[in-house]
Amino acid sequence: MNLLSIKLGERVFGIDTGKPLSIAIPLDFAGAQPNAYDVERASSTPCEAGALVGDTRRGGSCNFEQVKFIPHCNGTHTECIGHITRERISIHDCLKDAFIPATLVSVEPENTLETQETYPVDLSETDKLITRNAIEKSLQNLENDNPKSLIIRTLPNDESKKTQTYLEYIPPFFSTEAMRFIVERKIKHLLVDLPSIDRIFDKGKLSNHRIFWNIEQGAFETNENSFVNNTITEMIFVADEIADGNYLLNLQIAPFVSDASPSRPVLFKLI
Ligand SMILES: [Zn+2]
Repeated sequence: MNLLSIKLGERVFGIDTGKPLSIAIPLDFAGAQPNAYDVERASSTPCEAGALVGDTRRGGSCNFEQVKFIPHCNGTHTECIGHITRERISIHDCLKDAFIPATLVSVEPENTLETQETYPVDLSETDKLITRNAIEKSLQNLENDNPKSLIIRTLPNDESKKTQTYLEYIPPFFSTEAMRFIVERKIKHLLVDLPSIDRIFDKGKLSNHRIFWNIEQGAFETNENSFVNNTITEMIFVADEIADGNYLLNLQIAPFVSDASPSRPVLFKLI
C-alpha cells in the first residue's frame, strides 16, 4: 500500500496511490470506439517524413503516429466554457483543480411521461431524463462532505457505453431542474457517462451547458458571474466494481489550448 493522508474539511482520509480507478474509456485506435453523431472514427497512422518511417514493422527505428480525432465525439473528454462562447477559451486555462473531492452516484433516468421535470425542447416518448429528484435521492443515501465534483453513472450501466454510436439512439440527458440543482450545490466539475448533458439534438440550445457555466440562454458571451473554471467531462465509463460514494478525483487532461481535451479522470477511494 502507498498510503497518502489528505485532509478534506475537518476530516483526515487516506488514499492508496497504487490503486487508481480510471473512469476513462480507453481510446482504441484499432478497435471499437464510442462515437457521438457517427462522426469519423479516431484514427492513428504511422508518419512518413522523408527517409523516416514511423513504423518499426516497416523498417522504421521507432513508432511515431499521427492521430486524428474529435475530442467531443470520439471518447472521454473534458470541456470548458469555451465550448459555447464566441471567444476562444481553452480547457488548459480553465481547469485549475487537479485533486478534487468527488461524489459518485448511480441514477436511473426517468421516462419523460413519468416526471414533472422539464426540458426546453419538445421531447419524444422514448426520451429519458436524469431528474433533480433522482440525483437528490441518491445523494441523500451518502454521507457527503460538500463535494466539488459530481460523477453520474446512469443505470443500467451497460458495457455498450464504451462502444455506442449515438445518432439514432438518443441517450438520457439532464432536466433543467437537475442542472439548476447541480449549480445550487456548487458543483464545479460534472462527469457523466453520456455524450452530452443536453439532448444530443436540442435545436442547438445547449441549455444545460449554459446553466452549468452561467451563460444566459441564447448567449455566446461570458458575463462577470459565469463559472469560467467549471468543467464538464463526458463519455466516461464507471465500472460496476466502483461503488457509489465519496472519492478523491484526479482529473487529467492533455495540455490542449482548445475548448476540450481528451481526458483521464482517475478516482481514489477514501479510506
Ligand atoms: Zn463535449
